[in-house]
Amino acid sequence: MHCFNHPDRMAVGSCKGCCKGLCVECATDLGHGLACKDRHESMVES
Ligand SMILES: [Zn+2]
Ligand SMILES: [Zn+2]
Repeated sequence: MHCFNHPDRMAVGSCKGCCKGLCVECATDLGHGLACKDRHESMVES
């Protein structure tokens, strides 16, 4: 799986909100899962 924003980078996981692949730069680790940085953090937290 590759990062949704960076097709040339490998994803470290997928957003719990939208299920898109995220690299370390694009992901925020919420402790119980990953979310798109500055996009789906609140959505995944709720
Ligand atoms: Zn997302
Ligand atoms: Zn990325």
